[in-house]
Amino acid sequence: MVPDFFQFYFPTKVLFQAGLSRDFSNELSLLGVSRMLVITDSHLLKSGMIEPIVEGLKLGGVEKTVLFSDVPPNSELTAVKKACEKGMEIEAEGILAVGGGSVMDTAKAADILLTLGGDLVQDYSGAHTLTSPLKPLIAVPTTAGTGSEVTQVAVILDESNGVKLSFLDRYLYPTIAILDPELTLSMPPKLTAMTGMDALTHAIEASTSLEANPYSDAFSMKAIRMIKDHLAKAVQTGSDLKARSNMLVASNLAGVAFDHAMVGVVHSMSHSVGAVAHVPHGMANSILLPWGMEYNFDVAKERYSDVGKRLGVKTQGMAVDEAARAAIEEVRALRAELKRACGLPDRLGEAGVKESDLPKIAQLSVEDGSSFYNPREVVEAEVLETLKRAY
Ligand code: NAD
Repeated sequence: MVPDFFQFYFPTKVLFQAGLSRDFSNELSLLGVSRMLVITDSHLLKSGMIEPIVEGLKLGGVEKTVLFSDVPPNSELTAVKKACEKGMEIEAEGILAVGGGSVMDTAKAADILLTLGGDLVQDYSGAHTLTSPLKPLIAVPTTAGTGSEVTQVAVILDESNGVKLSFLDRYLYPTIAILDPELTLSMPPKLTAMTGMDALTHAIEASTSLEANPYSDAFSMKAIRMIKDHLAKAVQTGSDLKARSNMLVASNLAGVAFDHAMVGVVHSMSHSVGAVAHVPHGMANSILLPWGMEYNFDVAKERYSDVGKRLGVKTQGMAVDEAARAAIEEVRALRAELKRACGLPDRLGEAGVKESDLPKIAQLSVEDGSSFYNPREVVEAEVLETLKRAY
């Protein structure tokens, strides 16, 4: 269906090649950045993955680098501030982010402070608050899930108030996204599974969002198919470069899809579960995806029928309701396969959420920005029921 209005704006240059992160000197030369702030996390630094990438920067004319590697698993305000201070030490002209969504989001937020100044990045939270373009940001994802390398979004935890702050602005699109599947080979099975389910959630929620349009659909439907075909393989055989490549590209496509269509109630709940109970984002999405699909069933069943086809459901001859239910069951079957392969939790209780936290999570979910784009009104009492079912 073509909506009355939609737009597609996508300024990030995406490059894919195994090994590319070690030498993308052509791109660097075009950018002309000579002082670079490199942001990663301590685990990736210790793994030895970062050194050859930083070494490769010299080939593209980068003369000076400074490293910030203190990004926690959920990006936090303090880390953003410290990263910015590191960049100021060398008057960085650009930022290289190598890591998962936490690192890439920290880099986006640090870029705001580094370019626009100020002490508190939270002053820029919300939508369309930035007044000028930021310093060039090169995003190199090492997980296949968030798609942050191609989105105008950053999600940062305000650790003192226990809420996740969203930043949305066209100036937050990374300048370049380097997709190097070799960097994802080291992901252990559970991380592979939860980040892959994060990408699937992006693609499915983008397809049912109020802002869905033919462009976002093209990206989400392709992503769903690729995830169905390659996620379990990537979890079971982490060294399979083909499965890793497909998952990295699928996550990227799903990122473009949700960047243009936004997400919905699954993300409203998972952001809140993350803020209250510190459950990793992908794990929370994986647990809540089929329940959120059921929440939207009446208004989204036609779309779920399409989703089902991409998930391999033989929908021919099925009524829409039946095909939509089959799609949800297919998501559950994929989760069950991942649980068998690596123990990925499929219940909130199993992920460490306390039952007494559910009312707070329901309340925060209604207030979450993703709720605006959900195809059905997000009602606190019904969300609480949904959370109880997922518990
Ligand atoms: P993450 O960045 O938090 O990383 C999780 C852990 O995995 C870390 O310990 C990290 O060191 C490790 N890791 C990363 N790559 C690895 C590799 N190749 N091998 C081994 N270990 C590796 O996880 P994530 O799921 O990528 O990101 C989650 C964050 O992204 C959340 O804060 C979420 O809110 C945010 N997010 C942002 C967007 C966006 O568009 N900006 C979209 C979705 C999620």
